[in-house]
Amino acid sequence: MARIIDGKAVAARVKQDVARAVAELGATPGLATILVGDDPASAVYVRMKREDSAEVGIESFHHEPGADVAPEELTALIRSLNDDERVHGILLQLPLPHGLAQDEFIGLIDPAKDVDGLTVANAGLLMHSRDEAIVPCTPAGVMELLADAEVELSGARAVVLGRSILVGKPLVQLLLGANATVTHCHSRTRDLPGVCREADVLIAAVGSPGLVTADMVREGAVVIDVGTNRTDEGLVGDVDFEPVSEKAAAITPVPGGVGPMTRAMLLANTLKAARVSAG
Ligand code: NAP
Repeated sequence: MARIIDGKAVAARVKQDVARAVAELGATPGLATILVGDDPASAVYVRMKREDSAEVGIESFHHEPGADVAPEELTALIRSLNDDERVHGILLQLPLPHGLAQDEFIGLIDPAKDVDGLTVANAGLLMHSRDEAIVPCTPAGVMELLADAEVELSGARAVVLGRSILVGKPLVQLLLGANATVTHCHSRTRDLPGVCREADVLIAAVGSPGLVTADMVREGAVVIDVGTNRTDEGLVGDVDFEPVSEKAAAITPVPGGVGPMTRAMLLANTLKAARVSAG
């Protein structure tokens, strides 16, 4: 039976570390949140991020333009936050309502304040293994979980399912940086079960409930489930949890695995940006 990797506990430790570092910083880090429109799920996520910030001593600056905001107005808002010295991180909650070009607005964020790590500049810095890269929160959180669980990545075979710019692609870079041998899968991958069975570390970031079944998992593998799928049975991951946990050595649950880490790493990224700004 697999060891359950407790994301809530690891996230709580990250938050404590951030709170301690904020108290020692001598300046208050600021996180600006922009929620465009009234998507209820996005509203909940932003509220939680602001609550997390308050808990660790990060000041939040919240902006809530309506879904009918003019592109020029959103542009002006992002530019004003880029120039605001109290703001060290800018979080543009995604997805944006239809009609607003997501990439264009992400591209306006000062890379030094891009605490979601989504700008081309930060993706490039990560590709070059540069310390100043701000790494997207979810893959950064996955790496923290693997470190906390003392998973040996050097020389290990890691298989990543999903190639989004938010999760899969940065995760591959981070795993390569940790000297894993990485296979990157997506919707066109042939013989997905066979590829997955090669994995010492299997990470699913697809958005397909129960995609990873027990026959796809090698005995003793470490399984990280990034998937977050709302179903009639509640929130489930991409991994068929019970049967897979019979074979895996360690596994993350959904909820309570990667999700809390994503929130915690946003705080860590905001602290990092504030430290750079403080010199
Ligand atoms: P995304 O942008 O929709 O990307 C999904 C990826 O999965 C794509 O690369 C796609 O391949 C691939 N894929 C689709 N069907 C597949 C299949 N049958 N076999 C193999 N690969 C397949 O999703 P995302 O933003 O990366 O998010 C992925 C999941 O993680 C979602 O459930 C999301 O809610 C969750 N998530 C969770 C957190 C968290 O904090 N826990 C954070 C972010 C995301 P193609 O590129 O070929 O289309």
